[in-house]
Amino acid sequence: MNSIADRLAAVRSRIEAACLACGRSPSEIGLLAVSKTFPAQAVEQALHAGQLAFGENYIQEAIEKMATLRHWPLQWHCIGPMQSNKTRLVAENFDWAHTVDRLKIAQRLSEQRPSKLPPLQVCVQVNIDGGPNKSGVSPEELMPLARAIVGMPGLRLRGLMCIPEPAPDFESARQVFERASALFRTCQHAGLALDTLSMGMSDDLEAAIAAGSTMVRVGSAIFGSRN
Ligand SMILES: *Cc1c(COP(=O)(O)O)cnc(C)c1O
Repeated sequence: MNSIADRLAAVRSRIEAACLACGRSPSEIGLLAVSKTFPAQAVEQALHAGQLAFGENYIQEAIEKMATLRHWPLQWHCIGPMQSNKTRLVAENFDWAHTVDRLKIAQRLSEQRPSKLPPLQVCVQVNIDGGPNKSGVSPEELMPLARAIVGMPGLRLRGLMCIPEPAPDFESARQVFERASALFRTCQHAGLALDTLSMGMSDDLEAAIAAGSTMVRVGSAIFGSRN
């Protein structure tokens, strides 16, 4: 269980088991391999094991890996907090951004997205457990921001993302994820064509899948623990 390929296979098995346990199909769940702090060689090992979608938190670090691996058809997702002075690098280099939580950031990403690229795929980050210092819009702020993004030519709104505090057990984790799932359905019922619910990490992907996640973001279970 030491190689990245073995760990990836183990994570895929966990996803399959989690789907089986709640009557979902594994084909509904995308796996984002979170490669932050790990070198391009680690990403390369994962891609040789069939993994093409990678999540990164630190923009500069990510761009260096993209340059090293530019000959591979990889999909890069920005999952780190985004300051306005970093939006141009995100707009010019990434395929997805999961942490959009302010109108100003969305506007800059849309304006700065090069017209030769397809629109940047975005998720709105929602703060579902209410911590005042956490990133993410409140549930009340969600719909106005989502509607604004739908009107932006450089962006394509795909869904919601959340990072709840670690929960003590499966059931409490599932209940928190259910709140994100309920918001996701509310948006869909309001006419937004969302297909992505980005939630679940190494320690809680089973609970996230039970609550309806369509994309789990898994780092340490694939690449090992970070310092
Ligand atoms: C680091 C990170 C992950 C992966 O976390 P693991 O616990 O290593 O799986 C997922 N999502 C976000 C937003 C992260 O910052």
